[in-house]
Amino acid sequence: MKAFECKMCGACCYGEGGIFLTGEEQVRIAGFLGISVEHFVHEYCETRNRRLYLKVGLDKFCIFYDQEKRCLIHSVKPQRCILWPYYPAIVGDEETWEQAKNGCPGINPDVSFDDFVKEAGK
Ligand code: SF4
Ligand code: SF4
Repeated sequence: MKAFECKMCGACCYGEGGIFLTGEEQVRIAGFLGISVEHFVHEYCETRNRRLYLKVGLDKFCIFYDQEKRCLIHSVKPQRCILWPYYPAIVGDEETWEQAKNGCPGINPDVSFDDFVKEAGK
């Protein structure tokens, strides 16, 4: 039984954007979009606490989320998106994992926290 299987619901792409970007990711996504890094940063990012984050659109979804096509930069999406829900904060704390289950239907409620952690290590 899998501890996590994405249901493609888009819930993790909604809300106050927590998707920060490394310099390498900025270059990769800008290249994918065929624009300069400066253009990408100006158009699609915002700075918070001296870190660069993907902007959130008027619909409160990530600027790259499309209701039909889902993630528009899927092949080059940031590590933060690839890693979800195996964030260190979730893998390291059962209570945080319980909370994450409420927001992500892909996290199997029938699998124990220990098994979730084991799968994270694979
Ligand atoms: S919230 Fe969970 S199930 Fe929904 S798209 Fe995100 S990872 Fe997949
Ligand atoms: S980059 Fe893609 S996967 Fe990540 S939050 Fe935005 S739409 Fe979702």
